[in-house]
Amino acid sequence: MTPPLVVAIDGPAGAGKGTLAKRLAAHYGLAHLDTGLLYRAVGRALLDAGLPLEDADAAHAAALSLDLGSLSSERLRDRGAGEAASIVSAYPAVRAALLDQQRCFAARAGGAVLDGRDIGTVVCPDASVKIYVVASAEERARRRHAELAQAGEAASFADILADILKRDERDMNRASAPLKPADDAVILDTTALDPDAAFAKACAIVDAVAADRAPGP
Ligand code: C5P
Repeated sequence: MTPPLVVAIDGPAGAGKGTLAKRLAAHYGLAHLDTGLLYRAVGRALLDAGLPLEDADAAHAAALSLDLGSLSSERLRDRGAGEAASIVSAYPAVRAALLDQQRCFAARAGGAVLDGRDIGTVVCPDASVKIYVVASAEERARRRHAELAQAGEAASFADILADILKRDERDMNRASAPLKPADDAVILDTTALDPDAAFAKACAIVDAVAADRAPGP
């Protein structure tokens, strides 16, 4: 029997992987996990408790008590939570505490799409399809700026670009599970693509793998 389809989507902040992952999950009838929300929830838990983000033990404790079912809050999506996530996600104990939950999610019988930074390299090294989504930093900042403006959160383009560059630097250079493409990932550059065009390219990548996996006549 063909094993369930597991799609790993990685890439830097604002490259469009979240939208893509959600659409792929709906299109192929797979469950979807935005793993950034796990790290955002850990960062948000420390901020809400008034604890410094440098407190690795408190971050570890927050990660251990995290419940995957309670990750829908809008407050997890704001800039503060994203920035906090990028700090606490560098702690190896935090990453280790969240690994099993992500792997269990990926192992569900119906298949899954997971998006994050280390899905293809660490969480699901045997994923059926790995897509590494990139876009120029300026284009990613432009998208984030438009998104925040729509949500009523005022921020200057220059501040957002600076945030993005800082996050890239942290995510790509940390010792534990740094952001990088898996050796067998397909690179999808969305700089010049609108969401529909990016989705069509991603579907072509998944379809090519699915055709290869289909049992022969
Ligand atoms: O994807 P999102 O912007 O929500 O992720 C927030 C932060 O969480 C990232 O900047 C990154 O530091 C961290 N993260 C991670 N590994 C993942 C997903 C997110 O380290 N799989």
